Amino acid sequence: MAIKRKIALAAAAVLLAALLVAGWFALRLAPAGLTDGPVLVGEARRGGLTIALPAAVADVRIRAASTPGRPIVLIDPGHGGRDPGATGVSGSVAEKQLTLAMASELADLLEKRGRVRVAMVREGDVYLTLDQRAAIARRIGASLFVSLHMDSAPNPLARGTTLYSLSDVASSAEAARFASAENRAGEALSSEADGSLRSILSDLALRGQMEQSAELARRTVRRAAGRIALRPRPHQFAAFQVLRRADTPALLVEAGYISNAEDEALLATREGRAPLVLVLAQAIEADLAARRLR
Ligand SMILES: [Zn+2]
Repeated sequence: MAIKRKIALAAAAVLLAALLVAGWFALRLAPAGLTDGPVLVGEARRGGLTIALPAAVADVRIRAASTPGRPIVLIDPGHGGRDPGATGVSGSVAEKQLTLAMASELADLLEKRGRVRVAMVREGDVYLTLDQRAAIARRIGASLFVSLHMDSAPNPLARGTTLYSLSDVASSAEAARFASAENRAGEALSSEADGSLRSILSDLALRGQMEQSAELARRTVRRAAGRIALRPRPHQFAAFQVLRRADTPALLVEAGYISNAEDEALLATREGRAPLVLVLAQAIEADLAARRLR
């Protein structure tokens, strides 16, 4: 009797594990936008086109790669519209302008290199919530989400680039402060359903998303070393809502501190931004190649 019960328990455990694994794969392989209404995923896989999104979200243009079917990289210029982000120490530039300029340069460079397809969350001075930004990543089936920001700190000497990846726990008080400021700027987020099998499966998917995001951040740091000014601890972890909800490996780049005169002068010019733009393009391509998304 005891043996029969043990066998039954073992069988039930194996069945549950199989269900979890199958569910996890189903979630990862589900076409983007399955739960978010119709999306032209098939057409999107073949080349450049514009995907119509709900009125609140602007049309997203996907730029074609030299070879059709390449993975899509979604670049998110932080802030926009009524949310200017941080203000430069000179008082003449806002974060939203610099993130848009840098995002355009990164998108242009990736398009020119032709190894991936690329889209931008916004191409003008428009306001989008963090939810809307993450929803675009899911709808177009992005394989990678890169959010660009520039920070401001009370210490005017703070400068250099930081690469943030998603985590439940912040790696430092500063990372927590930065994440909570960015989360606040993006307004309220809808709560997620929990307490169900789906939430367990989502947790498993989220675990993988966090690991792949951390790997991308480490890869970017390796490529950046000696080429651009990095913070003393350049890879940080924090609970960024926009990264979590993008449902794909994601990186948040804090390009520098516009509260620092040197960083502001550097980030305000195309030439000053160019080394970081190149590092990001190379890290993005290498990451997608390593994940065999090519
Ligand atoms: Zn920002």
